[in-house]
Amino acid sequence: MDFNDTPKEAKFRAEARKWLKANAPKHKKWDDDQFIEAAKAWQMQKHKAGWAVITWPKEYGGRGGTTVEAGIFAEEEARYQLPTGPFSIGQGMAAPTLMAYASEEQKKAYLPKMASGEEIWCQLFSEPAGGSDLAALRTRSQRDGDDWVVNGQKIWTSGAHYSDYGILVTRSDPTVPKHKGLTYFFLSMKTPGVEIKPIKQISGGSNFNEVYFTDVRIPDAQRLGAEGDGWKVSITTLMNERASIGGGGGIGFDAIYKLAETMELGGDKAIKDRAVREKLADWYCRESGLKYTRARTQSALSRGETPGPENSIGKLVGAKQSQDIAAFGIDLMDMAGACMEQNSEFHQNYLSLPGLRIAGGTDEIMLNIIAERVLGLPQDIRVDKGIPFNEVPTGS
Ligand SMILES: Cc1cc2nc3c(=O)[nH]c(=O)nc-3n(C[C@H](O)[C@H](O)[C@H](O)COP(=O)(O)OP(=O)(O)OC[C@H]3O[C@@H](n4cnc5c(N)ncnc54)[C@H](O)[C@@H]3O)c2cc1C
Repeated sequence: MDFNDTPKEAKFRAEARKWLKANAPKHKKWDDDQFIEAAKAWQMQKHKAGWAVITWPKEYGGRGGTTVEAGIFAEEEARYQLPTGPFSIGQGMAAPTLMAYASEEQKKAYLPKMASGEEIWCQLFSEPAGGSDLAALRTRSQRDGDDWVVNGQKIWTSGAHYSDYGILVTRSDPTVPKHKGLTYFFLSMKTPGVEIKPIKQISGGSNFNEVYFTDVRIPDAQRLGAEGDGWKVSITTLMNERASIGGGGGIGFDAIYKLAETMELGGDKAIKDRAVREKLADWYCRESGLKYTRARTQSALSRGETPGPENSIGKLVGAKQSQDIAAFGIDLMDMAGACMEQNSEFHQNYLSLPGLRIAGGTDEIMLNIIAERVLGLPQDIRVDKGIPFNEVPTGS
């Protein structure tokens, strides 16, 4: 595989670089209220200039470009630390699911506003009893005429408090085995009966929420996939989730290299220390491995293939590596590392990265996926396999 840009790709990269240099906002620190407004403004600016959701068809607000072009733009955009996070669930997970399962009318109604950043979407999957084992979820949906009535609770819903819409998996039939009784919907977060309660995090932020559903009515027209086929639809979302957070997204090699060049250790620059150099070399090798693994995924996508289980490797290796880098950075700062204000990039990452190792599937779940579906090792023990959900012993 040739990792260099073709002449056409090099031209695209140069155009993207030029546009970003002229347009990327210089302001880097936003407080919580300003952040969403700044993110929406940046998304709209990209959209108007034709740089938003590069691979989407033009009629849905995209550019009609290739996955390689999208990868090039993302690489160039990543140099600027811009507020793009609030759109990752909508554009990266909800949109591919809508593209696969929604009606043409719905795609035309919802996708362009996702592309322009006017509307933000969240993912209402995890529950207190349904996280790693998502198919064990209990939020109940019951058909009532042309509507469904939903009751239950979701948890860890990132961005629910600023989202306009959500994708939702529910249990429509508890009398069949757990994967077979699920039904998938989308809904407005302003629907009566939806209550959002923020969760306070160790980093001081409140990025995710508990979401309660009390007699929430969802029109049947907002069902994605057939009744009882919610697991199949969820897999489309989850595969895209792992692909979109595949690179990890935390602090990387460049940051720790720069820090090692400036910090003192044993009377000399830390970068001169043998043990520090050994760690840097190891992280550099891993980061290169991740880069080429991503390139392999990208070239598979460009051949029209679906993101596969091997995407789990990126998150598994990337999130742990970033966590190690953040911890080592704080150690290198010596006494100054104890002060949060001294270098907030390392501290913020140190506090938020345990979350990245859990979100979208924990390390153990990623290892299970790699073991079973990539290496073909024997399956994890599944004691509830084939048993109707309402007959699975719950211990209570
Ligand atoms: C930052 C962040 C953002 C999130 N955003 C969202 C969101 O927007 N929407 C949403 O729906 N969810 C979201 N989540 C929830 C996330 O998907 C779940 O936390 C995750 O799937 C783990 O589920 P759990 O928390 O219930 O842990 P559990 O499933 O209870 O796991 C507890 C522990 O047991 C281990 N374990 C579980 N099963 C196995 C097994 N079979 N083999 C070995 N070990 C196992 C796990 O690895 C873990 O260490 C988010 C989570 C985080 C941290």
